[in-house]
Amino acid sequence: MIFKALDYRTNLPIKLEVKGDKIYDISVCDERIDSNFFIAPGLVDIQLNGFQGIDLNQLGLKMTDVKTLAQVLFRNGVTTFFPTIITNAVNATHDLLAVIAAACDAYPEIDKCIGGIHLEGPFLSAEEGPRGAHRKEFIQAPDWELFSYWQKAAKGRIKIITLAPEWAGSSIFIKRCVASGVVVSIGHTAANPEQIKAAIEAGARMSTHLGNASHAMLPRHINYIYEQLASEELWSTVIADGFHLPDSLLKICIKAKPNQTILISDATSFAGLPSGLYTGHIGGEVELNSEGKLHVKNNPNLLAGSAQSVMWGVNQLVKKQILSLQEAWNMASLKPSAFFNGNATNALEVGNQADFVIFKKEHNNLKVIKTIKAGELVFEN
Ligand SMILES: [Zn+2]
Repeated sequence: MIFKALDYRTNLPIKLEVKGDKIYDISVCDERIDSNFFIAPGLVDIQLNGFQGIDLNQLGLKMTDVKTLAQVLFRNGVTTFFPTIITNAVNATHDLLAVIAAACDAYPEIDKCIGGIHLEGPFLSAEEGPRGAHRKEFIQAPDWELFSYWQKAAKGRIKIITLAPEWAGSSIFIKRCVASGVVVSIGHTAANPEQIKAAIEAGARMSTHLGNASHAMLPRHINYIYEQLASEELWSTVIADGFHLPDSLLKICIKAKPNQTILISDATSFAGLPSGLYTGHIGGEVELNSEGKLHVKNNPNLLAGSAQSVMWGVNQLVKKQILSLQEAWNMASLKPSAFFNGNATNALEVGNQADFVIFKKEHNNLKVIKTIKAGELVFEN
């Protein structure tokens, strides 16, 4: 298979040849190519709760839902994602993890798309603000036995855990996670600087949606956001949907860590749906407005999660002139891959697995035209 488009890095026309599941050759293309068609690495979304009506945290989740979710994400340029399971009852978490693991076993083509499972909770802060929308009754201290029970249900597929390191015993828990190959990300936390430093010392390497799930008011100098932002060891993930963080803070996060920032969607099942009123899975009524903002009904200032894809976030950064298209795209593709693999295994380079996207840039929007996963054309518009 041969694909022709402009290289998103150089804007020059290239011809990319795929053989098997790999990029076999990349060469200059001397044919005329539409100046709006780009080729770029597949997007990697390491925090996603659902999309287009599929809710990974809804009990009754089926294996086919996981399969459909992967297909929906292909339409949005995502070739790898981390299904994210949030705070829930012990058995509910167990069952949801088991369904995702079973889907990976049943559908090898889906298994290829799932980089790992992200467990966000329940070892989070119970405080109002940092807790966000996680259910208080299930929040608890880190418990290795419990985590192991869930990891067994997930057949070892939990690769990221978001936790609040202020709980007693966090350091030992973090060390055990790291030793077992699980990335520990700090989030939904009210930790003081010493507790954050101790978590880093124990092996924590990431901050989950930095700047969100925090108190409305923070001490001006000493606070958990600055402490994480200043750490060289921590990578940040940020939600760049245009609603979760003001542009100024987004810029600060990116400037502080230009090589260690990863875009995430943190999308809910409302992502990809038409604007309107919906009922959230915790029962509340939510509104997805015409601008793409998801908020509690009649209260536009209270966000109810994200309803946009990670590609939308890429485009937001470009539209707001915070980053170039190449830089923004890399934060949702090469950076997450580099974080997990040491180097970006999804870069457009000969020998790499053929995970890439051809998209069209029109009227300030990005539209996916083709998605290739492991050498197969999995979506074509
Ligand atoms: Zn969260």
